[in-house]
Parts: sequence; C-alpha cells; structure tokens
Amino acid sequence: PKAFSVLGIPVHVMTNYPGWLLECLQQGKGTHVVTLNAEMTMQAERNSALAKVIQDAELVIPDGAGVVLYLRWLLWQKVERCPGIELAETLLRELGKQQNPAKVFFYGGAPGVAAKAAEFCQQKTPSLNVVGTHSGYHSLEEEEKLRQTLSQLQPQVIFVGLGVPRQELWIAQHRYLCPQAIWIGVGGSFDIWSG
Ligand code: UDP
Repeated sequence: PKAFSVLGIPVHVMTNYPGWLLECLQQGKGTHVVTLNAEMTMQAERNSALAKVIQDAELVIPDGAGVVLYLRWLLWQKVERCPGIELAETLLRELGKQQNPAKVFFYGGAPGVAAKAAEFCQQKTPSLNVVGTHSGYHSLEEEEKLRQTLSQLQPQVIFVGLGVPRQELWIAQHRYLCPQAIWIGVGGSFDIWSG
C-alpha cells in the first residue's frame, strides 16, 4: 500500500483496511498491523527499536486524530481516521462471515481479561473461531508454553494487547511462529471488550 511519512514513520492511507487484511489472510501473507497515534510517534523518536519495528510493519494505520490531521494537511485529501479497536471489530465481524472462519487468538491483559473479551466477541459473532486466549502477565516458563501453543495452533489472526511499545516489540520478535498470520497490537481493547 501507498505510504506517507509522518515524522519519518510510513503511514498507509487506503479506504478499506479490513478488506486489505482479508486479502492478506486469503493469500497467507503474514502481516504486522500497527495502529499509529501521536503518542506512539513520540515514543518512536526516543525508542529506535520501536521505530524500526513500525517501519518494518506491513500496515501502519492512522489511529490518532493528530496523525489524521497531519496527513490531511500533507495530502490535501480526505483521510479517514481508523481507530484500532474499530478495525479489530470490523475484522472480527468479517471473519464471522467466512465460509471457513479463520482461527483467532487473543493475547494480553490482566488474568481472565482476554478470555472474557473473546467470550464477548464470540457472543457478538457466534461463528467466530477463537482457538485460544492468554493473559499478558506471566512467568518466562509460561511464555515458552505460549510460544509452543501459537506454533501448534497456527492462528491466522492474533490480537496482542500488551500496550505500546511492548506489543509491537513482542509481535516483531514472535511473528516467525505463525508466519502467515495477521498480528495486530490492540492496546487496551480487551479491557473494553471484557467490559
Ligand atoms: N498489559 C499486559 N501485560 C503487561 C503490561 C500491560 O497484558 O505486562 C496490558 C494491560 O492489562 C492493558 C494493556 O496491556 O490491557 C495496555 O493498555 P493501554 O490502554 O495502556 O494501551 P496503550 O495505551 O499502550 O495502547
């Protein structure tokens, strides 16, 4: 997709992000999705590892109002804000419509939160195929188990809610486990879905 620089970070501007992701899914094209806001661009200025990870992500969407305003000013065209949680919700809804719904995994949040969030999404979209959940607070041994689980299950869509920048760095380090998956850092979305 076409990218425009926001403080040195390439942001992709398109009209249908979920549609693009569904295509990646169909083609088994592994994708890291970053939902960019101003706070993150400032963190990236101080944190070169984070900057590198964002630059390498296949899809960087304008999540924050500041990023959208800047792009509108830069491009003189309509740029829609795409909040990460809305992208995730649309994607889940679309996955539910698939003939053979893709395998989804929820990782992050306080103990029980990811499971509760998955339950909520399952209620909204009964055909959703959630293959597992895992909390974001755990020991190193447990993390090793999580790696094995992901590797065995091969989920096709993996939501990671560890907060910025932890989730972006974690995805970059672990995406090799499921190279064909769509990995999305969703911040505190699980907290919202779990109510
Ligand atoms: N979190 C986690 N493990 C950690 C630290 C944070 O799972 O070691 C979770 C936390 O429970 C919360 C999310 O990460 O659900 C961070 O949410 P926040 O709204 O702060 O995200 P951000 O604003 O960074 O996108």
